[in-house]
Amino acid sequence: MSHVKLFIPGPVEVSAKTFAAFSRPMIGHRGNDFKALYRAIHPRLQQLFQTKQPVFLSTSSAWGVMEAAIRNLVPERVLCCMCGAFSDKWLDVSRRCGKKAEALQVEWGKPIRPEALDQALAQGGFDAVTLIHNETSTGVVNPLVHLAKVLAKYPEVLFIVDSVSSFSAVPIPMDDLGIDVLLTGSQKALALPPGLALFSASDKAFARAEKAKDRGYYFDFLEFRKNQESDMTPSTPSIAHIHALESKLDDIFAEGIEARHARHARLNGMVHDWVQKNGFEFFADEGFRSKTLTCVANNRKIDVAALIAALKSRHNCIIDGGYGKLKGNTFRISNMGDETDETIGRLLEWLDDALPSR
Ligand SMILES: *Cc1c(COP(=O)(O)O)cnc(C)c1O
Repeated sequence: MSHVKLFIPGPVEVSAKTFAAFSRPMIGHRGNDFKALYRAIHPRLQQLFQTKQPVFLSTSSAWGVMEAAIRNLVPERVLCCMCGAFSDKWLDVSRRCGKKAEALQVEWGKPIRPEALDQALAQGGFDAVTLIHNETSTGVVNPLVHLAKVLAKYPEVLFIVDSVSSFSAVPIPMDDLGIDVLLTGSQKALALPPGLALFSASDKAFARAEKAKDRGYYFDFLEFRKNQESDMTPSTPSIAHIHALESKLDDIFAEGIEARHARHARLNGMVHDWVQKNGFEFFADEGFRSKTLTCVANNRKIDVAALIAALKSRHNCIIDGGYGKLKGNTFRISNMGDETDETIGRLLEWLDDALPSR
């Protein structure tokens, strides 16, 4: 199928194999076929989440579960680690849920520093912290291991982590790091169509949810847990997504998780080489650059919109022209999902062709 190939950081390209699985015939969501499907994929999901906890399938985009984490885990006060568009928005979402949300804000392009988190938590009184592991808008990856060590000093503060654009592409050992909610969406690192979110929650998270009033129904963590015990979801899920997920898990485990991580690192390195060869800079600080996308600083002041238009008309593909206030001052190239040495190599040739000469 000829189409505009996506190298934007989500949604990303969906393979023909995944689409074939997505369009399998329907099954009943309370029948044995569905239960067998969920049961079959669950151990592999736990392996990917690096958890012994149950893994849940939410028919929503990631924001559904991001909001749910606030509603289930935060009786009153939440600290939002903010370093870009997605992490910044979590403050607003928390307030719209009626919570007292406070900002730990850093300049876009910078990571959240463990010392700053420690200082903020030392004030006391927080029920939870929200963190975006890989801030897709800025290409910053936060120092998760070090931030988790800080959280370990505050056992009453639950740790909510969004891994939408890093899940399965880099290791995120949920249980070892003491993460209380780890969530991801379907259309980025997992390269499925948009519309499904996956998450897991710790025993501490469930204990907190048990005391939470007004959890609602659709995103009630305890409903998810109860239904998962009999291999079901609370309401009718997007069965097509779960078929596609099964196919994707086959791909991931056939490649091998470590090989998958290595592939993302290698392809990301190819993009980084291109950036440097062409005299561009990185928007994110060294040591905190995402492995799944590259946010390029437009220090050469090229016409980013013209670059993307040329890519589209000449090579039938697009990259992203910068998120929100970064539009034009940055551009982003994704290497998430099923990309290979060949596809990224070709993209870089197309970029060379579309780039105005110096
Ligand atoms: C895209 C993205 C989201 C939001 O995902 P939706 O599917 O739009 O809900 C959240 N967090 C991160 C890090 C993202 O990249």
